[in-house]
Amino acid sequence: MSRRPLLILDCDEVILRFAAPFRQWLAAHRGVELRLDSFALVGNMRHIADGRPVDPADFPALIDGFFAEGQHLQTPAEGAVEMLGRLAETMDIVCLSNVPEAFAGIRAEVLRGHGLPIPVHANQGPKGQMVRGLAEGRRAVFVDDLPPHHASVARHAGHVGRLHMVADELLRPLIPAAPDAHARIDSWAEAAEWIGNWMEGD
Ligand SMILES: [Mg+2]
Repeated sequence: MSRRPLLILDCDEVILRFAAPFRQWLAAHRGVELRLDSFALVGNMRHIADGRPVDPADFPALIDGFFAEGQHLQTPAEGAVEMLGRLAETMDIVCLSNVPEAFAGIRAEVLRGHGLPIPVHANQGPKGQMVRGLAEGRRAVFVDDLPPHHASVARHAGHVGRLHMVADELLRPLIPAAPDAHARIDSWAEAAEWIGNWMEGD
């Protein structure tokens, strides 16, 4: 096993943008408008044709549809490719994503296409157990936009550095604080410095 430090990254709203391309795809291919008035899908999705709210029972199919057909619309967060290229010189990098297993291969291809040939681990639910397994015996940092994952990692892999990042400018004010993260940094330039310092610490 590699002795290098390990950087464990969420994909959506950390490496790649999600909200904007998902919204674009929903409108173009499903006739659905997504508003970002609050950080929730319930109440924020309606059929463009007649204004009806989207039935929450239909959400999983819409999200899976995007993972199947729309991932190629996702572009990297600002500075992510450059900064991850630098960090890769001194640490191993993996993606830990709550993408369904069936679509994890597409995710890896899209990342490779953006110059990020990193392994993609598909997860379901809280990420703490998977982070514990991946980080075992290694200095490690975990980056995610969703507070519950930080709580889970704090519980199951407390030695791992936890950085809360939200790549999308519109989502930033909507996502709640993550009290279990060590830091909140939304820019990749600053995040890379924090990650480097954590990996070098003792
Ligand atoms: Mg995410």
